[in-house]
Amino acid sequence: MVQFEKASTPGTKNACGSAITATGMVYAPYLLEGPIEVKVTGSRVYYILRNNKYCMFETVMGGYGMYTIHRTKFDPWHAQQACNAGSELRTATTITDIIKEDDKVVGVTTDEGEKIFAEVVIDAGGAHSIVARKAGLLGRRTGTDNILYATAFVELPEKIVEERFKQLCEWYLTIGGSNYSFNWIFPMRDGVSVGVAGGYMTPKLNIRQQAQEFLNEPIIKEKLKGGKIKSWGIRTDPEKLIEKTYAPGLIVTGHAAGFVQPFIGEGMSFGLMSGRYAAETAAEAISSGDASEETLANYEARWKNDPLFKTMRIYGQTLKDYLLKRPQEEIINTMIAASHWYASPVPFMLKDGVKENDTKKLEKAAKLLIRLENLGIPGT
Ligand SMILES: Cc1cc2nc3c(=O)[nH]c(=O)nc-3n(C[C@H](O)[C@H](O)[C@H](O)COP(=O)(O)OP(=O)(O)OC[C@H]3O[C@@H](n4cnc5c(N)ncnc54)[C@H](O)[C@@H]3O)c2cc1C
Repeated sequence: MVQFEKASTPGTKNACGSAITATGMVYAPYLLEGPIEVKVTGSRVYYILRNNKYCMFETVMGGYGMYTIHRTKFDPWHAQQACNAGSELRTATTITDIIKEDDKVVGVTTDEGEKIFAEVVIDAGGAHSIVARKAGLLGRRTGTDNILYATAFVELPEKIVEERFKQLCEWYLTIGGSNYSFNWIFPMRDGVSVGVAGGYMTPKLNIRQQAQEFLNEPIIKEKLKGGKIKSWGIRTDPEKLIEKTYAPGLIVTGHAAGFVQPFIGEGMSFGLMSGRYAAETAAEAISSGDASEETLANYEARWKNDPLFKTMRIYGQTLKDYLLKRPQEEIINTMIAASHWYASPVPFMLKDGVKENDTKKLEKAAKLLIRLENLGIPGT
């Protein structure tokens, strides 16, 4: 097996909030041995009101619901695990084309013009993957299928991170700010990952302004006091699955296939799920000497029948449909409940299975929060 990476080190070209949920560890438990920064024990949700006021609530999970990582450390470690199992890693090598014979993908071409032949090509090239595009499986991703984010890593001493954030992920919701998603601060050992979710890409969206407004919030200034922005980026998260995730000789995984549910914070976990099923299907195809479309269709059957993925998808879609029909303030209140999902509604839903269009628990939580706010809860 050969892995190709266009960057000189894996993980240096990604922009990511860098928190893997426990769902990801279900698909790839060996990751727990990787370079994890912080084992997250709960979350704080801040609701920023007008006149520099805010309210916050904190919940602690009965275990670790998320793990923060640096992609610049984690991705090289992950690639090395494959090398330890016999793979080769070629960095600073960009795949520029696919090679086809009789309508079957039989290899790829590198930017140096080298042709590499393979029984199965697994595409993990991210949201704008050239391989999926050349194979005709990925069209242009624009507008309302993409959420636009700004992210930054802010360096802070470990002791300060511990004092200010403990082992908690923080979510921030602001009126007039990110209506359809949320902003965050996630603790690392040597600083924090900060993110601003701009929302769906529309001509009105000004992500830079939104990020600046967020950084200017007094509470955020206080949280990041003394910190230095070490890196930043603006990226899109595609949230629509491509129609077909395989072709003769080819399997498409992760961001390239659209395995993301931004509404419930799942990205890497479903990327890992798809990678695992891709590897299993490719191994079967190689050992039987049959990488036909029919054999590789097992990949799609696998992910489509994955119970956790099915549940999360219904949950994410239901939440999205529900939120986008509601007025802004109600959306924000509901997002509080939603971004709080690690600690409350989801474990219950997972236990019983989510029923389509069942938003009752979220609606109940949103109504309760609106009532609490009207009553003037402490901290507002
Ligand atoms: C701003 C932002 C924040 C996010 N935060 C989170 C989060 O906190 N938690 C979470 O779970 N998910 C998060 N996600 C989603 C998560 O980043 C993705 O789901 C995940 O990175 C997808 O993994 P991937 O391997 O499919 O693609 P990528 O991580 O994009 O990796 C693609 C790799 O392929 C390489 N590559 C691309 N093209 C070529 C080529 N032609 N030749 C060779 N190499 C190539 C790239 O350099 C890159 O290393 C976030 C996404 C965004 C945009």
